[in-house]
Amino acid sequence: MTSNCLMCDLENADDAKVVFRDDLWAAEIVPGYEVPGWFFLRARRHADRITGLNDAELDTFGHRARNMVAAVTQATNAEATYMLMFGEKYTHFHVLITARGAQVPPDRRAGDILKLRLEQSDPARAMELLPAVRSTYADATSGSRSASAATVGRS
Ligand SMILES: [Zn+2]
Repeated sequence: MTSNCLMCDLENADDAKVVFRDDLWAAEIVPGYEVPGWFFLRARRHADRITGLNDAELDTFGHRARNMVAAVTQATNAEATYMLMFGEKYTHFHVLITARGAQVPPDRRAGDILKLRLEQSDPARAMELLPAVRSTYADATSGSRSASAATVGRS
């Protein structure tokens, strides 16, 4: 299945690039954003922007966002972890979660971290980090969601 939406196309992403998928949400490494410690958290349904989310999505987003930020922070030992939302180039609701490690210089912090998208793209290293994020995320969600949140699979 292909579409004109990068976020929808991620349904076909290789399992190796998937942190988790559940009924409503997924997190993956995304082509073109392969900086180590960067992940997209997206609605699995094509919902336009945060204003297009339904009640079930709105009710669960906070927990998924918190658990992803916690997992990325723990797995990368980041000093800070950012969550960015634009909804302009890709209107399908998603957020970009980025680890900001101690090595990131002051002029590449906060909004300027997006300059690293091209400067520090390293797909191999990004993939190396994923298993730790996946297992940390699964541990964080195992109390309330048991196996389903840890299950990685294609739809
Ligand atoms: Zn979409």
